[in-house]
Amino acid sequence: MMEQYQQIKDQYPDAFLFYRLGDFYELFNDDAIKGSQIMELTLTNRSRNSEHPIPMCGVPHKAVKNYVDILIDQGYKVAICEQMEDPALTKGMVKREVVQLITPGTQIDTGAENAKDNNYLTAIMSQDDGESYDLAYVDLATGQLQVTTLASFDELTNEIINLQTKETVLPAEINLEVTELLNKLGILISHNANQEVNSATSYLSQNIDSEGQKAVLAQLLEYVRATQKRSLDHLKKAVAYEPNYFLEIDHNSQYNLELTKNIRTAKKSGTLLWLLDQTKTAMGGRKLKQWVERPLISRDAISKRQEVVEDLLNHYYERNQLTDDLIKVYDLERLASRIAFGSVNGRDLIQLKTSLEQMPKIRHALDSFTATSLKKLSRNIISVDDLVDLIEQAIADEPPISVTEGGIIKDDYDKQLDAYRDASKNGKQWLANLEAQEREITGINNLKIGFNRVFGYYIEVTKANSSKVPTERYQRKQTLTNSERFTTPELKEKETLILEAQDKSQSLEYELFVKIRDTIKESIDRIQQLADIVAQIDVLQSFASVSEEYRFVKPELTKQHEVKIIAGRHPVVEKVIGHQKYIPNDILMPEKTNILLITGPNMSGKSTFMRQMALTVIMNQIGCFVPAESAVLPIFDKIFTRIGAADDLISGESTFMVEMKEANNALQHATSNSLILFDEIGRGTATYDGMALAQSIIEYDHNNIHAKTLFSTHYHELTTLESELPELKNVHVGAVEQNGELVFLHHIEDGPVDKSYGIHVAKLAGLPSSLLDRADTILTELESEPTKTISANVTPTPTEQITPAPIDVKDQQMSLFAEQSLDENDEQVLHALRHLDLMGKTPMQVMNQVYRWQQKL
Ligand code: ADP
Repeated sequence: MMEQYQQIKDQYPDAFLFYRLGDFYELFNDDAIKGSQIMELTLTNRSRNSEHPIPMCGVPHKAVKNYVDILIDQGYKVAICEQMEDPALTKGMVKREVVQLITPGTQIDTGAENAKDNNYLTAIMSQDDGESYDLAYVDLATGQLQVTTLASFDELTNEIINLQTKETVLPAEINLEVTELLNKLGILISHNANQEVNSATSYLSQNIDSEGQKAVLAQLLEYVRATQKRSLDHLKKAVAYEPNYFLEIDHNSQYNLELTKNIRTAKKSGTLLWLLDQTKTAMGGRKLKQWVERPLISRDAISKRQEVVEDLLNHYYERNQLTDDLIKVYDLERLASRIAFGSVNGRDLIQLKTSLEQMPKIRHALDSFTATSLKKLSRNIISVDDLVDLIEQAIADEPPISVTEGGIIKDDYDKQLDAYRDASKNGKQWLANLEAQEREITGINNLKIGFNRVFGYYIEVTKANSSKVPTERYQRKQTLTNSERFTTPELKEKETLILEAQDKSQSLEYELFVKIRDTIKESIDRIQQLADIVAQIDVLQSFASVSEEYRFVKPELTKQHEVKIIAGRHPVVEKVIGHQKYIPNDILMPEKTNILLITGPNMSGKSTFMRQMALTVIMNQIGCFVPAESAVLPIFDKIFTRIGAADDLISGESTFMVEMKEANNALQHATSNSLILFDEIGRGTATYDGMALAQSIIEYDHNNIHAKTLFSTHYHELTTLESELPELKNVHVGAVEQNGELVFLHHIEDGPVDKSYGIHVAKLAGLPSSLLDRADTILTELESEPTKTISANVTPTPTEQITPAPIDVKDQQMSLFAEQSLDENDEQVLHALRHLDLMGKTPMQVMNQVYRWQQKL
């Protein structure tokens, strides 16, 4: 057996081999040692007494899924090796084969909690030009198959992160850059065992023109075929997509704006997706996520969705009827894939029936609306009555989970099955009669007829009554402590008949079930088409529900370069803090105002204001209504952000480096139709450095790009730019003093912020009053000095480079290094500074000490 094991294991060196042995799957050798640790199993030894005991551990076959999930979740692969023959009927070794290789990217049935996520397996190939890449992905659970070409490594990076893939299939030769990227992101890299890709699934890419895309699809599908070893009939034909058909949001912005993942918890809660999700079906949930990640740029498509939302909102009762029907639709996409894989059971078919039964109702509900897109969706709801009828006639209303133990097929569906069932039922009646009859004949009142798997049917008599047993007719079968079991020739005869009928009826039921499944399999296309329609309707009704609940309004789409949001809100913050507490804000950027320079202290609401803008734009472009009293919005082509915690997902570079890279990315790729959000650019470096960069970034954007930009800063000096840059406008977050305290109003007002807010905030934080007095004095001194900014560079720079305005900071720096002779007093201060016990002092003590030194110098 170990020879057979080893032969199979050699074919799957990178997977845990689950080797079926009776009711268990066993792992041996290194698999057992490592596996027992990960799955917390007891490690034992086979051939314990031999010289070379073999480490082993096992899991019961009924619980195998739980254990496989543990390994897959940690990024491992699992090869399931089954017995291909019945051991009872086989002499010698039972034939075994790997029937499926489960990997992180091919895992389906990821559990109810993940039903609203897709699990994408991806494949990448680089093109001959060395710059662009073809990328394909598939979700085995839903059959979705997509392919695209990405023009650069950056675009590839974005797409890979957006897809949240867990596994990527690569060709043997691919550049190191790609491998490194995948390793950094913790994505499992797989290769096709068979290098010559000769896919039996090429029909799936028939409609794709590009050779590169065909090749990457072939690579992906070959891997799927090799690992799944089962029908892939549910895969939909490949669809080619262009990433720039959609509003481009790079992965850092997706992350920072918390579209689908909360930065702190990595969960859905607190995200835009979480707010918008009132979908009733798993398909709708997945579709919503796809829409949030890929907002549209086609005015027409956006208007159509918004028209539907409006229509749904106008028909409250009809919409309720529609959602009532949607709730009863199960996950049709995953059911379709289980049908294709041959892994459905009776309960799945009942779910399918219930779901399909809703289709005419949904169609009917849709007919009461007026939007043309809804009418079109309604027309596309094709009839599936034949499938409903088939399941209704054949499958029991409450079938068992197992498909081999009977009880699935209804009476009256198949004559032969009914005959077997009668035989077995009659047999049971006969047994009951026999029991009564034997009690009477023998006078043993507690005589019983029972059954067990090993001995079959028997007559049981307690020891106390054994003297009454008619030994001439009863043959002893088994002796227990308190009783004895017998059989009789006529019982034996009936037993054979009953068991045979049961056996036959079970295997016939299974046969019938498989036939029904295969019939339904031919309609997978129809089921998937319905699934897609249901998903769309579900997302749109979800938009209508949230728009109603949170008082969103239908925005006006303008072709002008103008933004006019009246009383806008950040919908997630509003939901979290409660709508009474939320202060709405206008965002007014007419044609000629492209940059809002936002000043205001920390915690006053600057970044909330900026995020509000981005979320409103995204909500508009996915076709939802927006959180405002009214809104006029253009269609944006790209969103760039430099916001919040500078967590770098990939490179682990310094905060400032990341900040500059993101700024560069925005300035290189933004167009006048883009939206840029820069939060406190430049704070990651020395003050003058940072301010110089911030100013020149603003100028560059102002002169060359003309993108709508929100720029928050604590460099108060930058507010003077307003007088020189006509497209820039100052705004600030308002605050009032109440009883000598500063209260933020979270309200955006025109003009620059009052300089002394910082000191007010310090006061709120409880700093000592002597220190605050001192800060006031310093501020007054600084204010009397001429402003530190250099007048703005208003002529457009022809080059693509960022050219900061020439700020001369040498004067400030020189004095540190100037060779000056030190007097005795200076020497004393220097000496004291050198010997200051920094670690033994509080910051306040150090501050006071430095202050005293300054007085001396
Ligand atoms: P900043 O970026 O200026 O440091 P934030 O935007 O992070 O400030 O806002 C700080 C806090 O103020 C937020 O956590 C939020 O709870 C609250 N806040 C922000 N804007 C508003 C608003 N418009 N209405 C009510 N509360 C707000």
